[in-house]
Amino acid sequence: MRCPQCEARETRVVDSRDLEDSATVRRRRECSACGTRFTTYERVESARLVVVKRDGGREEFDRAKLVSGLRKALTRRPVADDAAERAADAIEAELRAAGLAEVPSQHVGELAQERLRSLDQIAYIRFASVYRSFEDLEELKREVDSLFEERGTRLGPAT
Ligand SMILES: [Zn+2]
Repeated sequence: MRCPQCEARETRVVDSRDLEDSATVRRRRECSACGTRFTTYERVESARLVVVKRDGGREEFDRAKLVSGLRKALTRRPVADDAAERAADAIEAELRAAGLAEVPSQHVGELAQERLRSLDQIAYIRFASVYRSFEDLEELKREVDSLFEERGTRLGPAT
């Protein structure tokens, strides 16, 4: 495992933890040469999972692509550095737990929206506006309103 900073090969593990799906181990490593700390993920290689696109095309489930979409939505939001990774892990675990060989891309998108919605509402709106390509401002406003309503419910009745 090369250091992303200086490319030295000598690194040591400073922390190791199972993630929620327990098929992934997250390790914090420290470069022995320059002291840079970075994170690696070790995963069990699992059965193929095929995503069926809207146009009927099929492609292997691409975790990196999912992470990058989530990360884009979470840019500069106050969440943990690895929030996108963790959300992707949870989504992949949920997809695999269903035990299906093929899942519609729409379902993957819905799971991503659910995760983001509970993680960060701005990120959720960003993702949803790209993913669902809101028809107009009215539709976007309805979505935002529903978030406010939910928040109101969570905080209890206004005094
Ligand atoms: Zn280094």
